[in-house]
Parts: sequence; C-alpha cells; structure tokens
Amino acid sequence: MPKKIVIIGAGIGGLTAGNLLAGKGHRVTLFEAHTSPGGYTAGFRRKGYYFESGTLSFESSDTVFKVMRKLGLKDRIPFVRQPIAIKSDRMDAVCRSFSDLKSLSYDAYPEDKAALDRYFFVVDKMVVSMMGMMKPKSALDILRFPCRLLNFMRLYKKYKRVNITEFTARYFDPDSDLYRIFKDMGYPDMSAAILPGAYLSFLEDYWTVKSGMQSWADILAKNFEILGGELRLNSRVEKIVTAGGRAKGVVSGGKEFSADAVISASDYKKTFCELLDDRSVVPQEWLEKIEKNKVSEGIFTVYLGLNLSTEELKKSMRAPHVSFRDEQPGADIHDSEDGEYFEKSSIMLYSPSLHDPELAPKGKSSLMIQAVVPFRWLNNWGGGDRKEYNRLKEKVKKTLIAKAEKVIPGLTDHIDFEDAATPLTYERYTGNTDGATSAWSWNPANRFYKNILSINIKTPVENLLIGSCWSAQIGGVPSAILAAVKCAKRIG
Ligand SMILES: Cc1cc2nc3c(=O)[nH]c(=O)nc-3n(C[C@H](O)[C@H](O)[C@H](O)COP(=O)(O)OP(=O)(O)OC[C@H]3O[C@@H](n4cnc5c(N)ncnc54)[C@H](O)[C@@H]3O)c2cc1C
Repeated sequence: MPKKIVIIGAGIGGLTAGNLLAGKGHRVTLFEAHTSPGGYTAGFRRKGYYFESGTLSFESSDTVFKVMRKLGLKDRIPFVRQPIAIKSDRMDAVCRSFSDLKSLSYDAYPEDKAALDRYFFVVDKMVVSMMGMMKPKSALDILRFPCRLLNFMRLYKKYKRVNITEFTARYFDPDSDLYRIFKDMGYPDMSAAILPGAYLSFLEDYWTVKSGMQSWADILAKNFEILGGELRLNSRVEKIVTAGGRAKGVVSGGKEFSADAVISASDYKKTFCELLDDRSVVPQEWLEKIEKNKVSEGIFTVYLGLNLSTEELKKSMRAPHVSFRDEQPGADIHDSEDGEYFEKSSIMLYSPSLHDPELAPKGKSSLMIQAVVPFRWLNNWGGGDRKEYNRLKEKVKKTLIAKAEKVIPGLTDHIDFEDAATPLTYERYTGNTDGATSAWSWNPANRFYKNILSINIKTPVENLLIGSCWSAQIGGVPSAILAAVKCAKRIG
C-alpha cells in the first residue's frame, strides 16, 4: 500500500531516501530550502570556475556504490579515487596507501625512528584488526571472522574513550612536528578507536566525483522525479506538524502537507528545537540533551579561480587534494579566542579542475583552500557585527592564501576570482548548526549516541525519522546514505 512520505532536505541523505522510497511506489515529496539539490554534496560555478560547496570526498565506497548500484545509477556517476599529496617542511609525496604514509614518515623523520616504531607498532595492530572486519574474500576469511571480530572488539574497547590528541601524545613530544602531524589525522579529538578507519579511508578508500559533487546530486534529483517523486526546491519546511505524539506532516510556504511519515534529512538540533510544532511531545531531558550536545567542527573555505593552467598547477600540487601540514606551535582548535589561530593552523588544498579541466575556463584552474575552525571563533565571527564579520573573513582568506602560496609559488599573482565561506555561510546554506561539517562532535567525551558507530533513525516522535548524517555520531556521506537505507526499510 503506497504511503505519503515527506522528506525535509535534498542532501545526499534525503535524495537517497527519496529515490529508494519513490522506487517502491510511495508518494514522496522532497522539500529543499535551497534553489538546487545537494546540501553538502553540492557545488557551484562562479565566472566559469566550478567549486565544491561542502565535502570534497567520501569514504566507505562499498556502502556508497552498493546503494547507487541498487538505484541503477552507479555507472552514470563518474566516481574517481582521490589520492592525497602530503606536504610539510619535510614531507612531499602522493600517498595512495597507509604503507605510503609510513614510508614517508620514516624517510622524513629518520631521527624519530624509535617513536615512529612505537606508534606504528600499535597503529598497525589496529589497522590489521580493522582490515579483518572487511568483506571476507575466501572461505578461510569466513572461518577466521569470529577470531578477527574478537580482536577488533578488544582494541576498539581499549581505545574508544581515548581521543586522538591524547593517543598521539603517548608516542610523540607535544612540541614535535610528528605530534602535530599525527594528531591531525582525522577529525579533531576523534576517538583513537576509529584512527585505523580514518587512515584506511583517507589513504586507501577516498573518492570523489570527477564532474563535481553537484552532478551526483543532479542525477539523484532527476531520477527521483522520473520515479514519480515531487521535488520542491526553494521550499523551506517551517514546521513539523504533530498530533497525539505522531508526526502528521509539515508546513512549507504557510501551507500544510500531510504525510504518513516525515523524514528529517537535515540538521538534528533544528529538527527538534525549531521545526517541531509541539515540543511537549518529546521528553524534556531529550530536548536538553540535544541542546547541550556539541557538534563537529566547522570549516573555512577559500575559493579561487586561477589564471594558471591545470598542467602548471599540477606541477606544484602533485595531486588534486593536498594536505599541507605546517601547523605551528600554539595552534589550538579549542582556543576560540585566539585571533592568530589561522596563522598557525594546517590547511588542505583542493583543485576540482585537476580531476576534470572542464571545471574551469579553458587554460585556467580552480582551487579551494580549507582550514578547520575553532568553535564559534572570536565570538562567532564578530558577535553579529556585519562589518567585523567581513573584516575577519577577509583577514582569514588572505592568511590562508598566503599559506597556500608555500605550496603554489606565485599563487597571488594568478588570482582571477576569489571568495570565501565561514561556518556561518555553511549554516546559512545548509541549516547545519554552527556549520557542523559532520554531525555531532567526534570527541568520545561528547557522545550523543551510546554507540559511536551506530545509525539511529528512530526518534521519540512516532513517524518522524532521521534520514541525514545526524543519525550517526560520526556524520559523513556514508552515514547519510545508510540512514536513508534504514528509513526506506522501516517505511517498507
Ligand atoms: C568541508 C566539508 C568536508 C567534509 N568532508 C567529508 C569527507 O571527507 N567524507 C565524508 O563522508 N563526509 C564529509 N563531509 C560531510 C558530508 O558532506 C555530510 O555529512 C553529508 O553530505 C551530509 O548529508 P546529509 O544529506 O545528511 O545533509 P546535508 O548535506 O546537510 O543536507 C541537508 C539539506 O537539508 C536542507 N534543509 C535544511 N533545513 C531545511 C528545511 N527546514 N526545509 C527544507 N530543507 C532544509 C539543506 O538546505 C540541505 O540541502 C564534509 C563536509 C564538509 C562541509
């Protein structure tokens, strides 16, 4: 029996849920506040240059590809591997595997061999145990699985409450380059138990879309409409309507749309603290938990159009994605009052047009520079004063360009277009609280969910499900897709 389903948000989670449910014959309406679909998996063009809006990449390709295959779309989306060039004062190489990173570290810091040996002795064990959890390839793998699972669980339990900063400090002097490099391998303060996953994802299972993330969102949006779904762009949901503790529909543009089930494929905090028409339908302690729980770090992005050919740019970048680890002493992601934070932080560089020259005008190239931002930096970017906000934004943009110049000599002379986004820009365009990039805080001391690896779609409101990356403690493209799959299964 077809049901009436409303989905809030056309990010990768909402688009996937929409496709799965419309494919089953349900009557699905997908509301998107923005004028185009995609959320954090979107992109935009300025002066002919294409830039990614949010994420540059995703991992867990088995999960992502399986779902895209199920939708019959996998072969229409040009997925490509995203190798990473790691650069610092002493490192400069493209890493395609965990062992590449190990070799690079030993070659660059031979005097720290003893500390590296101790670090990799433990990390290797974690990586091997995680690899044992991957899809079995033979009958022997299946027989060995229970043993591997026990080993994985033992290590996971041992490190799940240790954050990556504490873990790194066990092996390297906090004043050393290696400490600064390794504590940044993943999200700030994430649990050390997921470090092997971060290494394997970042170095061996990192993917993007050659023609840009927007093309992926557009394919999903088009297919959703072909399947009979209704996509309402430029249509913010203002309220989730409840009756008797159940979700009954939504209000958008002042009009009510009834539904048998509502999937919020958007920000968790806003879903409960702003959209729900009657907050008394959820327990007070639940609301308090939502309000006080911390979110993941935001990002500052600089967008540059360059009068520089992709061939020239490639000579200095080596790969489309560069991790430039030149963090200086004193760069503290927890210090929201440090006005000089960006002078000291590391940066990432990404050029969409190095994957596909069509993403920039002929003979030119596009570049993005990103840095992780302390929570609500400098009174949340100037305490609401527009002039101060613009001043800070401009200052950080110039600082990051100057840093990127160490990777791309003469960069400033090639700038043809420039713009920037703060976490407030990200919040304005996607609704994610404080521009959170990946749902809840990754710090094991700030857990919203008991199990940091679980996908949680159910809510205290009947018929209201979570279909976004916020269903997981550690949000990302794969968790948004897994949430969508779970929502579609539950609805039937
Ligand atoms: C800079 C950056 C780097 C990242 N790096 C990675 C990475 O390496 N790997 C990875 O897996 N993930 C990464 N992520 C995270 C990943 O992009 C997100 O977790 C994922 O794309 C979220 O998808 P989603 O569908 O859950 O939500 P979103 O993409 O946030 O989409 C939510 C949608 O809902 C819409 N919306 C919100 N409120 C309303 C409303 N009231 N009415 C109607 N529409 C509404 C928004 O406009 C938006 O389109 C990164 C993110 C950023 C920003």
